[in-house]
Amino acid sequence: LSVPAQPVIPFIEGDGIGVDVTPVMREVVDAAVLKAYGDTRKIAWMEVYAGEKATQVYGEDVWLPDETLQAVSEYLVSIKGPLTTPVGGGIRSLNVTLRQQLDLYVCLRPIRYYDGTPSPLKSPEKTDMVIFRENSEDIYAGIEWAAGTPEAQSLIAFLRDTMKVSKIRFPETSGIGIKPVSREGTERLVRKAIQYAIDNGRPSVTLVHKGNIMKFTEGAFKVWGYELARREFGAEPLDGGPWMRLRNPRTGDDIVLKDVIADAFLQEILLNPEDYDVIATLNLNGDYISDALAAQVGGIGIAPGANLSDSVGIFEATHGTAPKIAGQDKANPGSIVLSAEMMLRHLGWNEAADAIVRGLSGAIRAGRVTDDLARLMPDAQSVSSSEFGRCIVA
Ligand code: NAD
Repeated sequence: LSVPAQPVIPFIEGDGIGVDVTPVMREVVDAAVLKAYGDTRKIAWMEVYAGEKATQVYGEDVWLPDETLQAVSEYLVSIKGPLTTPVGGGIRSLNVTLRQQLDLYVCLRPIRYYDGTPSPLKSPEKTDMVIFRENSEDIYAGIEWAAGTPEAQSLIAFLRDTMKVSKIRFPETSGIGIKPVSREGTERLVRKAIQYAIDNGRPSVTLVHKGNIMKFTEGAFKVWGYELARREFGAEPLDGGPWMRLRNPRTGDDIVLKDVIADAFLQEILLNPEDYDVIATLNLNGDYISDALAAQVGGIGIAPGANLSDSVGIFEATHGTAPKIAGQDKANPGSIVLSAEMMLRHLGWNEAADAIVRGLSGAIRAGRVTDDLARLMPDAQSVSSSEFGRCIVA
């Protein structure tokens, strides 16, 4: 990216605890940029609206105004708090809509342990992974028919007639869902994951799938992933395959490309997290894995994320709107603060990103954290969202 000294960054405050965490994020980022670059660089924040706040500004039914979509695609890099999914009225999840409209096909979730954070693991410091979750396909394509609808029933009749599916395996009362997984969708995701491993000197990329059961979707994901690695990155079979090895052109080191079945993977990340590094996986697996791994390093309150296309990046808090604690200055701003850290690295402002990591690590080590962490840390003092932000800055 060619980044001006004062880039315009659109931000969506977000619903619920968005009001608690997003202002803290902006203060932390401004302080980190000032610390790193003095007054030679500064972010020009530009508020854009989505969710409940959009309905207040634009009118009742406008949850995602065109201006917002335009701003996040025009300015290329933006950041957002959590958004409420409107109930009823035929409005789909705003997050899913944003991802689909802007073709944000990578959901990037780094999982890193900060010393002192509560964890159910004995050695949580061994967990250091980056998840590339495919964001546009799989069951999230949203093609489903409720049980008893004419569409579901005619599909069932078709399956019975053409594939001789038995009544016992496929009763007439079934709802039906469709899971599309394409070669193009798989390849662009796996390409990004391998390139990330190359750029960041990572030792392995693991394809996580359930190909033993879903051969032509998840199994194909694995096959297409290996084929892409061979074709575009010169990967070769390792010890006769199916695992592969490719040479990192930047460092000369090997990168191992392997695959593991999703259920085994969920066990492995608890038992042997040090064996896994960059993860490339399908949409639904990625959803489960992201939250499971986040729990190993302090929970969704401090797990950052981003949704990326080839040009646009929206950095975002990974948690929801947490309505029970919204507006009470209690929520953990860590997730959106660390998403901003990712955003700064995306801009190439690594010194400011490093300052955020130092600040957040320091606040956690000092035991001055929000309630979600404090209640699991025997010696910690619970502080408000805004005080946690001030501790990070200090
Ligand atoms: P949630 O993440 O809002 O809450 C789950 C639990 O985690 C709650 O106990 C909550 O209090 C706690 N929690 C979440 N973030 C926290 C933080 N920063 N600090 C401290 N505690 C935190 O999930 P939910 O309850 O399933 O969803 C609530 C709403 O959020 C729904 O409308 C849902 O659609 C929406 N949602 C939005 C996003 C997004 O915008 N990316 C993601 C998930 C859910």
